[in-house]
Amino acid sequence: MYKYETHLHTAETSACASATGAEQARRYKEEGYDGIFVTDHFFNSNTTVPRDLPWKERVDLYCKGYENARAEGDRIGLKVFFGIEYTYDGADILVYGLDKQWLCDHPDCDKDFFRFHDDARASGALLIHAHPFRQADYLRGVIKLLPRWVDGVEVYNSGNGEESWNEEAEWYAKTFGFRVTAGTDNHHLSVEQDRLAGVMSEVEISGGADYKAAFLSDKITPLYPKRRLG
Ligand SMILES: [Zn+2]
Ligand SMILES: [Zn+2]
Repeated sequence: MYKYETHLHTAETSACASATGAEQARRYKEEGYDGIFVTDHFFNSNTTVPRDLPWKERVDLYCKGYENARAEGDRIGLKVFFGIEYTYDGADILVYGLDKQWLCDHPDCDKDFFRFHDDARASGALLIHAHPFRQADYLRGVIKLLPRWVDGVEVYNSGNGEESWNEEAEWYAKTFGFRVTAGTDNHHLSVEQDRLAGVMSEVEISGGADYKAAFLSDKITPLYPKRRLG
């Protein structure tokens, strides 16, 4: 079995993160993971990328955290994959299988989720609803479910402040028949070891397309943290 982090932020790109891409790559290597997906907040959320730059420059800056993690991963022997956390009015959607070139080719794709969805899916992306029942100010306290617009549900998120939000996500996935993932939503090196989550895969993953194929053929299972919240 292989172990992957599915939900991770870097200080280069996510304004709420304190650990750099390289620091996180070293941490996950130490923790015995085979790979990590860097899923920084996109332009429609808590990004460090200024809004008034040309699209291409914004994409370059957006990819910095991933690229720094990737360079360190290549050096130390940890697989690092590109992902996105796309925010749409109360819902956070993890996106796998796209890349920097795709973003360059789709200017303003941060503006309209439904159009983004269609274009991303057409390019083979996998969309997972992150922490669907988190109640947070930045989500305006809104719980927004869009079952027709995602491929799966993150049923455990270690960044959730309440364990019940994870239980509700399990209920949602079960009720709607979704395949499921888990992730740490890691922003900081201070996240305790027993709170790390992710997925176990029966097959080795070498990119977003692989991950999608493994997910859709039921070779992915959630990796729950050793310690749940009280
Ligand atoms: Zn964040
Ligand atoms: Zn996140």
